[in-house]
Formats: sequence, structure tokens, C-alpha cells
Amino acid sequence: MRYLILSDIHANFDALQVVLQEAEHVGYDHVLVLGDLVGYGAQPNEVVERIRALHPLAIIRGNHDKVASGLEEAEGFNPIAQEAAEWTYRALTPENRTYLFTRPAGPIFVDAETEICHGSPGDEDAYITSDLAALRALKQSERSVCFYGHTHIPVAFRLTDTGFDLVALGPEAEERLTIEQGQYLINPGSVGQPRDGDPRAAFATFEPDLRVVTLYRAPYPVELAQEKIIEAGLPQILARRLALGR
Ligand code: ZN
Repeated sequence: MRYLILSDIHANFDALQVVLQEAEHVGYDHVLVLGDLVGYGAQPNEVVERIRALHPLAIIRGNHDKVASGLEEAEGFNPIAQEAAEWTYRALTPENRTYLFTRPAGPIFVDAETEICHGSPGDEDAYITSDLAALRALKQSERSVCFYGHTHIPVAFRLTDTGFDLVALGPEAEERLTIEQGQYLINPGSVGQPRDGDPRAAFATFEPDLRVVTLYRAPYPVELAQEKIIEAGLPQILARRLALGR
């Protein structure tokens, strides 16, 4: 049994399509979505409809989904994120807006091994950007493998009898991690707006029976997503950053 794990798609339909093609090739049984389907990119409706058609086993909301669906104010958003959220709110069909509005907050316990959240298990809006934050999240997590998003940076932390450490990930297009004893906190990276300096779309799979997590990177036509952002009248910086992976 294999889960396909998608996070931070951010209305980038070009990236999502390539990721789903690659995932089809790998094969999967169920889809888990860690939030932020929309915000920043130019195709929120296409992304929401494609995700809905996948019938995810578990899907939670991200902070951009909350603001772009009118559930929450844009306070705490920088002016560019705010402008994109307002554009997205107007662009979404009422049906897709309602879909985002009604997605639950994380964490969700997917099975006896697996948990998903957007920010951290203790706070859906918290950013795990330090070792201390990762350690705190591992202690809040109630499953041996917790997948999270929000920072758009693929990374894996592990807490075992011998201590807490960061699992090194290479630049390869496919990185396999074997889950041993202890607890793991894993960010699959962002499908639609990577921020680790690598513009390729990121996603992951998890095979709980084999205890194997695989992190993938897939090149996609960045220029197409950029053109759509410019044509939509969204802030140009949102197009530029896709090419930089920042
Ligand atoms: Zn995000």
C-alpha cells in the first residue's frame, strides 16, 4: 500500500499535472493532501477540481486556503500574499471556495503509523524552521511518522533512543528513507512553490508496510506557470520566484 503525499500546491496546475503523471508512473493507492491548494498561482479552480477528483483519503486546510476562502482575515500575510489571496478569493467558483472553506484543520491521524498536519501537530499555522521547533513538533506528534508542509522545504527529522537528528537528503530526483525505530517528522516539499533553491516540483510517497518514504523532485514547465501569473495580473515576483525555487 502506498500513499501519495502532496503539499503546498499553491494554484500551480502545471506543476500538479507533472507530479500526478510521475505519481501515476510510480503507482499509489491513496492521496494525502497537507494543505495550501491555492494562493500565489494563477489556476486555483483547476487545482481544487483536480484534487477533488483524486478523492483524497485525508486532506487538511492550509493558511492560504483559509484566507482565500474567506474563513480568515489576511492579517499576518505580507502585501504580496494578501494581494494573491484577494485575487484567489475573487477567482474561485463558489463551489470550490466552499470546498476549501470546509476542509478540516490538521492534525489528522491517517492510520496507526501516520499523521498529517499543515504547520505543526500543535499549531496548524506554525512554521517548523528550527531544530527546536522540529523537536517540539516531534513531541506533539502522536504517530511514528508525521508529515507536515507550510515551509515548502523538503526535510526529515528523527527522534530515536540515541537522540534527535536531521536526516540528510541528497539532490537526487528520488530519495529513499527507511523508517526505523523512533519518530519521524517529514516535509515532502512543495508541489507548486519550492523554496529550497530547487525549482523542481516536490512530492513524496509512503509505504507504511515497508516503512519506506520516498521524496521526489520533478521538473515541470515553469515558464507556463509564470506566463499565467503575469497574464492574471498577479504580482510579478510570484512568477520570478518559481524559476529560482525561492
Ligand atoms: Zn504554503
